[in-house]
Amino acid sequence: MTQSFHPPVRTLMGPGPSDVSPRVLAAMARPTIGHLDPEFIRMMDELKQMLQYAFKTENALTMPVSAPGSAGMEACFVNLVEPGDKVIVCQNGVFGGRMKENVERFGGIAIMVEDDWGKPVDPIKVEAAFAANSDVKVLAFVHAETSTGVMSDAKALCEIARKHNALTIVDTVTSLGGSELDVDGWGIDAVYSGTQKCLSCPPGISPISFSERAVATVAARKSKTPSWFLDKKLVMGYWGGGAKRAYHHTAPVNSLYAFHEALVMLEEEGLENSWARHSHHHNALRAGLEAMGINFLVDEEYRLPQLNSVFVPAGVDEAEVRSRLLQDYNLEIGAGLGALAGKVWRIGLMGAACNKRNVLFCLSALESTLAQMDAPISVGKALPAAQSVYND
Ligand SMILES: *Cc1c(COP(=O)(O)O)cnc(C)c1O
Repeated sequence: MTQSFHPPVRTLMGPGPSDVSPRVLAAMARPTIGHLDPEFIRMMDELKQMLQYAFKTENALTMPVSAPGSAGMEACFVNLVEPGDKVIVCQNGVFGGRMKENVERFGGIAIMVEDDWGKPVDPIKVEAAFAANSDVKVLAFVHAETSTGVMSDAKALCEIARKHNALTIVDTVTSLGGSELDVDGWGIDAVYSGTQKCLSCPPGISPISFSERAVATVAARKSKTPSWFLDKKLVMGYWGGGAKRAYHHTAPVNSLYAFHEALVMLEEEGLENSWARHSHHHNALRAGLEAMGINFLVDEEYRLPQLNSVFVPAGVDEAEVRSRLLQDYNLEIGAGLGALAGKVWRIGLMGAACNKRNVLFCLSALESTLAQMDAPISVGKALPAAQSVYND
């Protein structure tokens, strides 16, 4: 007989999913009710309001897509890009490449602005791309590149798009809840995120928000949105329909309980406090890693607090370290992707996983593992360095 599955209890300090709080897991185990039940609809209304708070937006079209972050990405592109539309796509890591793929699959023309992995999107290159191309409909970029640990200046990029009368599509999967994000203040038109990074919810839901300009653009489409499931005009009958909500698809009822609970916790903490917590623990982790002799890939001024890309010390088998951390400490950290594979680790400090215990635990587990492998690191300095940040 096949046995029930009982996952090991891990500490998740990779690029996501992050540790899920027991409160969120408990919410998920509450009884399933109908997705048109008046009590469920009341919960949906609360969820939408809390999501508006998290995104800092008044956008009416703010809702969770019933699928992971990649589906939120696709929802933005499939609704806003029509065949022949020009889209400037900024690429400085893995996720910009997926944006290009989306644009091209929906018949758009992707104008690429490329920056090195580990660097932010360069606003000067974006200006140049607008200058070289007329009638650009959309500027698309990733706010927080999880593949490298880089933050781009979303506010400055949105200003450029506005000046050229283009819409913006912004990936905030890793920034939402972890670093400053101001959808209305920065004038973002379409934004998507995920639940499993800094909101510390199980994966599988993608919150999105569309500005009035974006909604008007969708309404003015010349062609039908090529995806039935992600067509925002149709989904709004369910999420935006008030008392007259109509069946579109069966919402993932229990996953939405979990997301509701995660957003309640964000409200309790306060959005700005959550941003500050991420940067505080990042400072402690950084002090510890640097004291050990481990260096960061990304320059300090555009480093993400919630995703720390650090160089693997010379001569160390990085995969062996990750597998020992998992086996000996039940600790997950992330590997490098693409050109950075084998060269860096990605240490996440996201959502509920971003706390003092995890910082100290990760530093001591990494230090003792590296010391056992005779890696060229300084031993005995990391914990005092992190502690001194906490004692300041
Ligand atoms: C994780 C991530 C995604 C994809 O989200 P999934 O939930 O894995 O589909 C997209 N963009 C960024 C920046 C991410 O970090």
